[in-house]
Amino acid sequence: MTVRTRFAPSPTGYLHIGGVRTALFNWLFARGHGGQFILRIDDTDQQRNVDEALQPILNGFRWLGIDWDEGPEVDGPHAPYYQSQRADRYQQAVEQLLACGAAYYDYATPEEIQAQREAAQAEKRSFSYNRQWLAETDADRARFEAEGRTAVVRLKMPRAGQLVLDDLVRGEVTFEWAREQDHVIQRADGSCLYHLATVVDDRAFEISHVIRAEEHLSNTPRQVFIADALGYPRPAFAHLPYVAEPGSRNKLSKRKLDKYLKHADFAKIARHGQAIADRLGLATSADTFNPVIVDFYQQVGYLPEAVLNYLVLLGWSLDDRTEDFSRDQMVELFSLERVNKAPASFDPAKLTAFQQRAMDRMESKPKVAFVLPFLQQAGRVSTPPPCEVGSQLSGILAAAGERLTVAGDILDYDDFFTSDDALVYDEKAFEKRLRKPPEAVGLLQKFRQCLADATAFDVETLDQLLHDFVETEGIKIGQIIHALRVAVTGKAVGFGVFDTLALLGRERCLSRIDQALRLAEAVDTD
Ligand code: GLU
Repeated sequence: MTVRTRFAPSPTGYLHIGGVRTALFNWLFARGHGGQFILRIDDTDQQRNVDEALQPILNGFRWLGIDWDEGPEVDGPHAPYYQSQRADRYQQAVEQLLACGAAYYDYATPEEIQAQREAAQAEKRSFSYNRQWLAETDADRARFEAEGRTAVVRLKMPRAGQLVLDDLVRGEVTFEWAREQDHVIQRADGSCLYHLATVVDDRAFEISHVIRAEEHLSNTPRQVFIADALGYPRPAFAHLPYVAEPGSRNKLSKRKLDKYLKHADFAKIARHGQAIADRLGLATSADTFNPVIVDFYQQVGYLPEAVLNYLVLLGWSLDDRTEDFSRDQMVELFSLERVNKAPASFDPAKLTAFQQRAMDRMESKPKVAFVLPFLQQAGRVSTPPPCEVGSQLSGILAAAGERLTVAGDILDYDDFFTSDDALVYDEKAFEKRLRKPPEAVGLLQKFRQCLADATAFDVETLDQLLHDFVETEGIKIGQIIHALRVAVTGKAVGFGVFDTLALLGRERCLSRIDQALRLAEAVDTD
């Protein structure tokens, strides 16, 4: 048997952490078995422009490297892969279900059904529609229609017995047929419901394993009933635990952002991301840019392999030790048997730790290529980049070391790419380090001269130079080093000051110091 799995998003715009985790498990299972992974678009209830709403989803998959063998943009032998274009198939299935007696035309009004439901509640018994307006024959239909009634098509579900399913994650699950309703499969306007459509499509696409979120477990009996009635082989089912909120067992949702922002780790990555977005000039809103959405990680410069590595552990583990997996290892080692039954909480700090590790492991060359587009997007480096940018960036990255968590953090060092006269000084830092200490300007003027006269401009020479200066002047190192840093970078923080000076080079350091001195003195005389 060829393994074929599918992910079936409704195009609502953004790929959510929980959704992408489900897609990833489908993809890993298919790839690990040499099978195929299919993307189907569940757009029957879609009001908006589907293609537009689909792009962020496809983009998220592409970024993560979750490729699909059939589906939008790649097509395939079972096209179309959009439910909105498959209505004729659903209609045929409805007719077949009616013909074999597994479904019926029902002419009850919603009020009549509601009245029966309430009566059952009042008598404290479980509700089961009495099929009073079921039309057996064409004559029945004509009579009901003459009364002005319209029909829906309902499943004629069994009312006794059990369905026992062997779920690949949950094990044996038993459902009582008596608890099932005669579910509607076709509305009065002729449109079909998801439960019918999904069964028809899973068969048409030859899906062998339906791997999906556990909230669909309760939908499975009606879908199995439809499949059986249509004579389809049943696919295997695996219902995955949901992804829970940070620090709680409730299901993660796109709509509870305010609540999550009260969670310290979540708020921290949200703020960090927002600061980068602001520097990049991205138009963001809470709905479209937040840590529940996969796009967020791409935009602020996470590594797709770090995000994937984190996601695979949201509900799966190899053992209780191994945490780092390459993409190939995930494909090789993933199994449904080791998916947990309990929900896994989304842990932003853990995701960031994966990212930090992956970033720290990166070699210089790919790291330069990874961060460069962020400087270009922020308008700091032109496209194509001037040829010295590569070596400059690799120097900056080496000096910054583990200070960079995501690619967007390179913008903390954007002052290296700013022309000297456009350097912006952090007002608070400038005040504290250059204007307030009475000795700052004098010391900086003197040290400027040392820099101008230095025999070389490498880290060791500069280190020696500054230490000699401190000794000769009889000052503490802090009295010069902070003023110097603010003067050449505009900022209070950064990596080692000698690295900074060496990377900038003598000429730029002198010109920046002169500029800072002019600025400090100009205010002094005001
Ligand atoms: N469109 C459905 C959903 O997003 C798919 C459910 C399924 O996998 O059967 O929940």
